[in-house]
Amino acid sequence: MMFVVVRCPRCGELLLANTDNRTRSCQKCNHRADIHTLKIIGRTDTAAEAAILMRTIKEKEAGVNGFTPSFKQFKS
Ligand SMILES: [Zn+2]
Repeated sequence: MMFVVVRCPRCGELLLANTDNRTRSCQKCNHRADIHTLKIIGRTDTAAEAAILMRTIKEKEAGVNGFTPSFKQFKS
């Protein structure tokens, strides 16, 4: 069993899906999609990791719209 992060083909919402299931309903627009036809953005072994991955992707996408978090430290 694995967890994958996919994107709803209708509204673009990020969805967390269990690969044991064939389909996943979008929590936002209620569109039901076949997981295997969707582009998998990321995959993990546990639901906890998948939740973190989803948050990371969302934060990354938010960065595209202006705010870009930087983890680099200035070196003297
Ligand atoms: Zn949707």
